[in-house]
Amino acid sequence: MINEFVPLADLTTMRVGGTARYFFIIKNEADVISAYSFAKENGTSFFVLGGGSNTVISDDGFAGVVMKMEMKGVHFSDEHDGAVIAVAEAGENWDTFVAMTIEHGLYGLENLSAIPGTVGAAPIQNIGAYGIEVSDTIAWVEALDPVTMSTHRFRARECHFGYRDSFFKTDEGRELIVLRAAFSLKRNGDLRIGHDDIKKYFSERKLPIELSAIRQAITDIRSAKLPDLRNIGTAGSFFKNPVISRSKADELCVRYPGALCFPVDDKNVKISAAWLIDHVGGWKGYHEGGIGVYEKHALVLVNYGTGTAAELISLAEKIIADVKNKTGIALVPEVCIV
Ligand SMILES: Cc1cc2nc3c(=O)[nH]c(=O)nc-3n(C[C@H](O)[C@H](O)[C@H](O)COP(=O)(O)OP(=O)(O)OC[C@H]3O[C@@H](n4cnc5c(N)ncnc54)[C@H](O)[C@@H]3O)c2cc1C
Repeated sequence: MINEFVPLADLTTMRVGGTARYFFIIKNEADVISAYSFAKENGTSFFVLGGGSNTVISDDGFAGVVMKMEMKGVHFSDEHDGAVIAVAEAGENWDTFVAMTIEHGLYGLENLSAIPGTVGAAPIQNIGAYGIEVSDTIAWVEALDPVTMSTHRFRARECHFGYRDSFFKTDEGRELIVLRAAFSLKRNGDLRIGHDDIKKYFSERKLPIELSAIRQAITDIRSAKLPDLRNIGTAGSFFKNPVISRSKADELCVRYPGALCFPVDDKNVKISAAWLIDHVGGWKGYHEGGIGVYEKHALVLVNYGTGTAAELISLAEKIIADVKNKTGIALVPEVCIV
């Protein structure tokens, strides 16, 4: 069913922005085709909205068709060689799905616990946290090409996963609508506990390190660090961690000792955007109108309740200009600005 002038702010976690000119709830593939056909007949564009946790809607809203992805369903295959394939529809809540895999005793997604959003968006952004990326477990992603009305199953290697990146973000893949994704999970996998926060959590509590305890640890660590979405709007990490040359990083370390860098390859390192914003820019805790830089995490821009998209984008631009001016490094938004 089509709705018009639907407010979008409360359908996103940042809670800014205007209305959708046209709004369709997507429960199945036929709904996708109807919504796309409507957009085409009316000569307007479309975008898919999942949980809205990586999206900033502009104050003018979206003049085309918003497809709110609500396709539901999860299916677990029989075990084969110690692995189970879990298939989830795009509109499933990501964290509810992760919880289900853990209840089934399956290893692979536990470190990605408590990330907001939907299953369908997870491969697009190649979500990652605590030492893993969703691409580590993805078997395939099924997506509908609305132009040809055909569905294609992309094997993991065809998804061209990268750091917060995939084929679905390229010019060629951008119009595809993810319908479902399959994850290859292990019955007896290895737990990834190398991240400092995880090590600290378990050493302080002297708890046995097991699958469900990892999920609890990640959930606790994240809730201590990130805003409570019930009270504060945010889209999580606003910027990607920039990749720079090792020589550039060495030069920066002379001017700003203690720069947080992680190796990428022989020539490049990833530098922490949070570190740049905090230590180079001094932006942590800064407020401007209803928008600010979260006091506990410099990469997280927040809406304290009255913020607008214009204020948010203006603050983001100031941070980008400041970091660029001081270091020559260009911060790039991780969030999708619509
Ligand atoms: C508090 C907080 C913490 C976060 N922590 C992390 C983290 O640790 N790691 C991490 O990687 N991310 C993190 N994020 C970002 C976000 O949760 C993820 O990117 C998530 O996968 C977005 O899912 P969504 O359904 O909300 O996507 P949306 O914001 O609804 O959409 C994001 C993009 O994907 C497109 N899209 C969504 N669904 C589909 C579909 N079915 N088909 C085609 N296109 C689609 C949209 O058009 C949009 O371009 C965090 C966000 C918040 C608010």
